[in-house]
Amino acid sequence: MDKPRCRKCLLENMEDQQALLRSIEELIEALPEEKRTPEEERQRRLRLCRECDALNSGTCGLCGCFVELRVAKNWLHCPKIPPCW
Ligand code: SF4
Repeated sequence: MDKPRCRKCLLENMEDQQALLRSIEELIEALPEEKRTPEEERQRRLRLCRECDALNSGTCGLCGCFVELRVAKNWLHCPKIPPCW
């Protein structure tokens, strides 16, 4: 029987993914200010992603994006229909 996998974590909750999370944080920091989601809105999006059935080990099961990176880009939206954010 396959080992069940955790589907409900963001990268920040996975110790073995810290290097990957750091790379994503660097990509976010490299975004021009005008393209970065404001912090309050970013946290709101993350809260919705944490509750979403499509969250799969830090990625969105619908689009394949790393969730922490997707929510930080102000021009992107949730791919769900209807979108969560
Ligand atoms: S981007 Fe949308 S569909 Fe993907 S995990 Fe977040 S809330 Fe769910």
